[in-house]
Amino acid sequence: LEKEYSVMVRAKIPGGRVTAAQYLALDTLADTCGNGSLRVTTRQGIQYHGILKGDLKAAIAGINDSLLTTLGACGDVVRNVMSHPAPIADAKHRRLEEDARRISERFNWTSGAYHEIWLDGEPVDMGADGLAKEDAIYGKLYLPRKFKIGIALPEDNSVDILTHDLGIIPLFEGETLTGYNFALGGGLGQTHNREDTFPRLGTPLVFVGPDDLIRGVEAVVALQRDHGNRADRKRARLKYVLEDKGIPWVRKTLEEYFGGLLEDARPMPAFQVADHMGWHEQGDGRWYLGLPVSSGRIQDTEAVRLRTALRTVVKRFGVDMVLTPEQDVILSNVEPSDRTDIEDELRARGVRLAEDIVTLDRWTLACPALPTCGLALTEAERVRDPLVAAIHAEMERHGIGTEAVSLRITGCPNGCARPPTAEIGLVGRMPGKYAVFVGGSFEGTRLNEKLQDKVPEADVPVLLGRLFGLFTEQRQDGERFGDFCHRLGTQALADHLNAMAEA
Ligand code: SF4
Repeated sequence: LEKEYSVMVRAKIPGGRVTAAQYLALDTLADTCGNGSLRVTTRQGIQYHGILKGDLKAAIAGINDSLLTTLGACGDVVRNVMSHPAPIADAKHRRLEEDARRISERFNWTSGAYHEIWLDGEPVDMGADGLAKEDAIYGKLYLPRKFKIGIALPEDNSVDILTHDLGIIPLFEGETLTGYNFALGGGLGQTHNREDTFPRLGTPLVFVGPDDLIRGVEAVVALQRDHGNRADRKRARLKYVLEDKGIPWVRKTLEEYFGGLLEDARPMPAFQVADHMGWHEQGDGRWYLGLPVSSGRIQDTEAVRLRTALRTVVKRFGVDMVLTPEQDVILSNVEPSDRTDIEDELRARGVRLAEDIVTLDRWTLACPALPTCGLALTEAERVRDPLVAAIHAEMERHGIGTEAVSLRITGCPNGCARPPTAEIGLVGRMPGKYAVFVGGSFEGTRLNEKLQDKVPEADVPVLLGRLFGLFTEQRQDGERFGDFCHRLGTQALADHLNAMAEA
């Protein structure tokens, strides 16, 4: 008897846009192939955990039957292209959705191996040397590592645009697109005990005109393909090319790949992060509803039948869905007359709407970690809700229970839930213990710093409670928690904490 191997399968969904029919197909697969749950990822995709080896082909075929794909959701290629989540029906937002789709399609590889293996396609011609045909963009060796692309408006940096290998920021004058700033070399993963690995924010480097988007992206991907580190996987992302070769070299080499001079990145408005939860008008007479999903896990439990509720609402009202970078879902294209009935359907199954959860919960992300991720050093998803409750209790105690603070938890330093850009980042170090980072900006424009290492899970709320006390005593007018921690610095914060512990 063979062992029951199980795997994770991830669907690539540019901008997280899923039609009603696609969502229903994805929901069905959770039962026929998965473990009964779907998981919204921080890159606006869907993951299934616990797919048994014997069900793998059916799962991948089922995703393709719904006109989505797993092609490029993993591997050393351009991954799922992220985009702003708000389904606003104006030319500006539609343009971004379309751009995300165009980029995604351009970087699908051309080999037929995927279709041959998973979808019963024609055998692939391997050629005389036994290697697959050369791909027009990926060549024979593909990329040194995964390559992440996002596109976001400055007024809504939900996608954490500076954390991507290539962050694309469209600039508009009124409704007219003037072009795109390219920020290169973002990436959050690091390896314990490897000082030469680190999180990095993208550097806004060049600007390309409205018609040069794809050509510009091709130039960046080709640069990474040819100059990324293929000898050391831990240092294979584009960020290390920028660090090792220097910005001037990268800029000059990029122009060679682009085939022309590139303008410097243009000044941009300050980044903001929009709140998409609750009801919003779309701008075409219809509405959308942002619905919080803890850790992105769509499942039925005894108390909350979220999966049933979503399936019922999508079926009955035909609403489309957007998967957000915060692992939540947006029900879009809602007729005004359906709003109350949709709320009733959700509440009847115990689903909490945005107004039912505390603010901290609204801004918390957690990766899956144990038991499903092989790299996890400790828990994240399974401790998320109790940790949020305990940390929120500390915030309440200090009178800041309604403040928006970003909290992100991962089971290892790989950074899947983007802890380095959070105001509070908890990164798994060993079973039950976390490195606590503070001082990132809510808007995703600054990395946080490590305050304490190997803090037992039960002590995390206590430690943060002390910081909240300091914050309420010493904050400046309108200052956010992350900005306060950054202003004081981790050394001063640590000194304060030591003094409090001794008192
Ligand atoms: Fe796994 Fe680490 Fe990513 Fe969490 S951050 S999902 S533990 S690799």
